[in-house]
Amino acid sequence: MENVVIMGTGCAGLTAALYAARADLKPRVLTGTMPGGLLTTTSTVENFPGFPEGIGGYTLMTRLQQQAERFGARVEFATVDHVDFLQSPLAVVVDGQRVETRVVIIATGASHRRLGLESEARLENRGVTYCATCDGALPVFRNQPLVVVGGGDSACEEALYLTRFGSKVYLVHRRDQLRASPIMATRALAHPKIEPVWDSVVTDIEDVAQNKVTGVQIRNVKTGQTSRLECAGVFVAIGLVPNTGLFKGVLDLDANGYIIPHRGATTNILGVFVAGDCVDYVYRQAVTAAGMGCAAAIEAERYLATLRL
Ligand code: NAP
Repeated sequence: MENVVIMGTGCAGLTAALYAARADLKPRVLTGTMPGGLLTTTSTVENFPGFPEGIGGYTLMTRLQQQAERFGARVEFATVDHVDFLQSPLAVVVDGQRVETRVVIIATGASHRRLGLESEARLENRGVTYCATCDGALPVFRNQPLVVVGGGDSACEEALYLTRFGSKVYLVHRRDQLRASPIMATRALAHPKIEPVWDSVVTDIEDVAQNKVTGVQIRNVKTGQTSRLECAGVFVAIGLVPNTGLFKGVLDLDANGYIIPHRGATTNILGVFVAGDCVDYVYRQAVTAAGMGCAAAIEAERYLATLRL
């Protein structure tokens, strides 16, 4: 029987692992399909405290994993297929094997939201992508016009990153004001290669027949006017959806799928704690996820102490 199983190795999961390991709980930490979480796809993290020059997202997450492992966290590349929280002890099924545990900390994070277009799905990884850091430098995007969809911090970050490679970057946003933080918005709008396309949505991505991106159809939501932008790549950055499908019918979820925490990091199931982007739709920062991971581990430790009384 495990003491603590942690699902997810983003900032929340690995910080929980660090704290649980330092409490000598020898947590078993399951990466899921994206070890290191979404932050590994970020180029430079400029707002994580303690790094005045910024730090690469991948480097930050690698170092955090090493820090947790140094104190005894057992990080495994493994995916949970199924959870069984309705009986005692709690259990998770990992790659077909049932693992019983006293505590589960859920830090499964969130994934990129899709536009929901058929052409988007057909052209994914053929010019449609959700990660400029991962794909921006590909030859197909070099010196070509590119489209970023979205108006948040991610869209601005993606657009700024892509200015290194593309001849021009259209920032297509459904309103006439960015949601991004002022520093990111100002930086993006001041860049000579970035052209905002306001009040507009992408209605289709061309060209499925050629199996590559050649342009997008857009519609101005105020005037109804349609037009076309020629581009070689579409970078979708329209927010996140929580990775909580495994917990439907088991944990309390809100209408958007986020886990509803009870007091602090606890849930409606005793021994199950939550942290990070699977529960937080308000702050969603690396540092807040880390803080939530810390809180979940401390609560887990206190809960385990009550079992030993
Ligand atoms: P976000 O803040 O939720 O922004 C999503 C953007 O996509 C919004 O502008 C939204 O438009 C637009 N959008 C949503 N659904 C859409 C749809 N179906 N079609 C077209 N547009 C759509 O998401 P995010 O930018 O990924 O950021 C997530 C969190 O990470 C935020 O808390 C952010 O601050 C943080 N983050 C921080 C940094 C940084 O500090 N450097 C970098 C990246 C992310 P509306 O504005 O009209 O709603």
